[in-house]
Amino acid sequence: MLEDAVDFVCPRCGLSIRPRVRWLTVEHCPRCIALARIPVRMSTVPTGSARAREN
Ligand SMILES: [Zn+2]
Repeated sequence: MLEDAVDFVCPRCGLSIRPRVRWLTVEHCPRCIALARIPVRMSTVPTGSARAREN
């Protein structure tokens, strides 16, 4: 069961990363660092937005 799953999306190059484990966070885009040497902060996009919250 996935809860609070997020994708990390780079606003500069569009690279999207989905961590396999929840506690893993990606702060900066590895592609932009590798190619342009620019630390671009990844933005998070919730993947389970269609799923309603059950309490
Ligand atoms: Zn990037």
